[in-house]
Amino acid sequence: MTGSPQMTSTRPDLPPGIADVVIIGAGVVGTAIARALGRYQLGCVLVDAAGDVGTGTTKANTAILHTGFDAVPGSLESRLVRRGSALLRDYAAQAGIPVERTGALLIAWTPEQEAELPAIAEKSRQNGYTAVRPVTRAELYRREPHLGPGALAALEIPDESILCPWTTPLAYATEAVRAGVRLLLNTRVTGITAAGPQPAGNGGGGTGGRPGGTGGRTRGSEASGEAGTDARGHVLATSRGELRCRWLVNAAGLESDRIDRMLGGGGFTIRPRRGELIVFDKLARPLIRSILLPVPTAQTKGVLVAPTVYGNVLLGPTAEDIDDAADTATTATGLAALRGAGRAIIPALLDEEVTATYAGLRAATEHRDYQIEVDRQRRYARAAGIRSTGLSASLGIAEYVLERLGAAGLPLRERSGSPAAPPVMPYIGEAGTRPYQDAARIAADPAYGRIVCHCERVTSGEIRDALAGPLPPADIDGLRRRTRVLNGRCQGFFCAATVSGLFAAGRQGVPGGLAGGPPGGPGVNAGELAGGQSGEPA
Ligand SMILES: Cc1cc2nc3c(=O)[nH]c(=O)nc-3n(C[C@H](O)[C@H](O)[C@H](O)COP(=O)(O)OP(=O)(O)OC[C@H]3O[C@@H](n4cnc5c(N)ncnc54)[C@H](O)[C@@H]3O)c2cc1C
Repeated sequence: MTGSPQMTSTRPDLPPGIADVVIIGAGVVGTAIARALGRYQLGCVLVDAAGDVGTGTTKANTAILHTGFDAVPGSLESRLVRRGSALLRDYAAQAGIPVERTGALLIAWTPEQEAELPAIAEKSRQNGYTAVRPVTRAELYRREPHLGPGALAALEIPDESILCPWTTPLAYATEAVRAGVRLLLNTRVTGITAAGPQPAGNGGGGTGGRPGGTGGRTRGSEASGEAGTDARGHVLATSRGELRCRWLVNAAGLESDRIDRMLGGGGFTIRPRRGELIVFDKLARPLIRSILLPVPTAQTKGVLVAPTVYGNVLLGPTAEDIDDAADTATTATGLAALRGAGRAIIPALLDEEVTATYAGLRAATEHRDYQIEVDRQRRYARAAGIRSTGLSASLGIAEYVLERLGAAGLPLRERSGSPAAPPVMPYIGEAGTRPYQDAARIAADPAYGRIVCHCERVTSGEIRDALAGPLPPADIDGLRRRTRVLNGRCQGFFCAATVSGLFAAGRQGVPGGLAGGPPGGPGVNAGELAGGQSGEPA
């Protein structure tokens, strides 16, 4: 697509021509890769079956920016979590992604677990993270006075942090789109076909050359499962028509094995591992200072209690292998198990209000490590099996994939001019200044003083901005992830109708629908709230 594409597509709304690279999957991994590719003179397309970015596993996890202290030493995961978390820490500071360095305490509750702590500390050093240190029982209870009885000792991991899993892929995707990456949502890839021969000298894209033939043989599809290994580019059958590309990146998360099989791959199968979580109201936040981790087992990192950047407390996740990659329901058994575990860690937590429960599915495979490979022959990269650390590792994964794509022959010529700075995203964390707290901002634009969602202190200005932004939400859930609206303890009881009205008006582009509004319009003023009209603490 670089240069002047000369192809027609089977449907007018899909980009014509041959893309240099198509990335399947706009989760945190796919958007990070799209962002990285966007810096080069390439025509890239990012496709996702869903109507928004980050709606797969990316939106439903524990939201910890891991140091990688507990990874398997020498693994690719260890390397990329370490690299990725360092990159993301810097990126978040520039892009306004909420991150809080709360630190973590890994707590031993039995003599056997206590005996494991030195080995965990040694493993951390082998992973290149040396700041881990032992904590005595007395210090542990001094630091976390609400801890349940029976803790024996702990390890402190001072750099473990919490971050916003929603703003992160949105920031990557925004940067990618601004750089010219075409984002195609509601576009499911259903089959992949080998393209016909490409013209000589057009081996790696970047020229926008003439179309490859369309009569390539079928590699495989969801229906046939057939596979082939033609190397001359790809024709993708999608729910919205045909897309063609020279190189393909598979970042399809829970479906990455199916996509891989369409290309003749194999060697790994995704076995979804469900993790259920409980979110407690903000009144629970003073109960903990750090992320409270258990001693991990070979199967799972175990159930933790952690603060969120929105001021809540999380309890979870469970770990249950399931067959259905769409089954994100919570279960009575899972929630009961969490309550039991939570009661032992922080007994008072269970007296607090629950604002939400949810489940996310880890893209586990039969292998312990990430399944990342770049195949020069097939012009194909896969970033799969990113089980439980993909948020932290995302920028490391993107850097790694990009290097290998370059080595495999994808021409990486930087765009002229200096690289664009990261986008500055709307800040939705509790640790920084939100619009309703910013007098200067409110003076300049009264919509930032008009609170619509009382529990989460979301203003009509933020809703307006989200709807007018470069990646507007497709639905109310998308608006939640961009603003926090409806996420509070009332669960929309007071504001859902107003929010729906604003959403509908904003989506229809009704003039004045969201622009501050007249006095007495939707929402209340931040000043009124500060005067005590809301029972909800910040
Ligand atoms: C319970 C739980 C807790 C976790 N905690 C943490 C944590 O604290 N820290 C951390 O770093 N990581 C954590 N993780 C892991 C992290 O969430 C994942 O590694 C990461 O989100 C994976 O991102 P992804 O982009 O690979 O996948 P996804 O976010 O699932 O994205 C894949 C995308 O591909 C799209 N797609 C699939 N098939 C197709 C198709 N055929 N056509 C078009 N599009 C398609 C999907 O719609 C989806 O949007 C946790 C995971 C879980 C489940």
